[in-house]
Amino acid sequence: MTGEELIREGQRVLANTYTRHPILLKRGKGTQVWDSTGKAYLDFVGGIAVCSLGHCHPKVVQALEEQAKELIHCSNLYYIGPQVELAQRLCEHSFGERVFFCNSGTEANEAAIKLARKYGEGRYEIITMENSFHGRTMGALSATGQKKFHKGFEPLLPGFQYVPFDDLKAVEGAIGPQTCAVMVEPIQAEGGVILPSPDYLKGLRDLCDRSGILLIYDEVQVGMGRTGMLFAYQHWDTPPHIMTLAKSLANGVPIGAMVATEAVAQAFSPGNHAATFGGNPLATRVGCVVIDTLLGDGILENCQDMGAYLMEGLINLKKRYAFIQDVRGIGLIIGAELAFEGKEIVERCLERGFLINCTAGTILRFLPPLIVTRDEIDRLLTALEAIFAER
Ligand code: PLP
Repeated sequence: MTGEELIREGQRVLANTYTRHPILLKRGKGTQVWDSTGKAYLDFVGGIAVCSLGHCHPKVVQALEEQAKELIHCSNLYYIGPQVELAQRLCEHSFGERVFFCNSGTEANEAAIKLARKYGEGRYEIITMENSFHGRTMGALSATGQKKFHKGFEPLLPGFQYVPFDDLKAVEGAIGPQTCAVMVEPIQAEGGVILPSPDYLKGLRDLCDRSGILLIYDEVQVGMGRTGMLFAYQHWDTPPHIMTLAKSLANGVPIGAMVATEAVAQAFSPGNHAATFGGNPLATRVGCVVIDTLLGDGILENCQDMGAYLMEGLINLKKRYAFIQDVRGIGLIIGAELAFEGKEIVERCLERGFLINCTAGTILRFLPPLIVTRDEIDRLLTALEAIFAER
């Protein structure tokens, strides 16, 4: 079938859950992807913060090839070498002492919710933030503080209280006898790239410690180097009790992880939680390669440098175009807030061969692979300038 035929068939046979651009991506290399007509695009979406090492990174491809020949799946009834090695790496480089593996961000959050309830021994309420995003399964959806995602799926799982992001007093006021945890994205990503005040995470941790409840960070989108540090919480030097990861952990091979301290992880015992595919040899072998490459190949440094460069370029555009209301971010998660819906700008970029994303209606979001270069950023900025000038 041709690309056009596949798109038409896709419109007929795929569940109607996404608004898709009418292109079919066939191939990728580094920061570039090609569609079925051969048109090239510079990718500033990165599979929504997934392909941090770029598309088809040679070390990822090699790990996949080697592991596929050795063992793809065997179940968690047995020990899996790469799974242990990935857990070791995650613990070595974070606050964590034990890791549960699953297949996605939403599943990692389900695991965190269950662990917090189990640890709470009867206490079941979790305080989450307005404008947050934690996933689409019923627990994570119920944790998500945005009504638009709930609509049509009520009743939600009971036991979630939403308070404004970046408001310590609101959290303090919401803590009650049934509260077992506070769950927060250190940076609200889907919600529009919203950073906390400098003392927020520290304040949350203090509140949780004083109240004997757990602090959970959802680092599904901002973890694994996206912000220029391996984990976003490291910018504020404030570890949680539980952290969830997914997206770029295996650069596109489906994986999720819940990392916890020993004392908290102890609440789980065999039979409490499981995932058939969780931590399978293929995904975890790639996860090991991703961490080693992020730390060993100067990728985090490039993320910091290129993040600052892209931010500066966007701030310069903001000075010339009043409809750019704000530019914010850290590392290579950057948002440019517009005075109008960003959809049209995304489409103009696509026509010119650039993939960018828009979140929360008006915020252009840039999430390129962390290997992006100055020249590639210059090309995007030039295209944006031309598109903005046409308005
Ligand atoms: N948590 C955060 C912060 C996210 O950004 C996302 C996805 O965008 C999720 C959870 C859900 O992850 P997944 O789509 O892998 O279930």
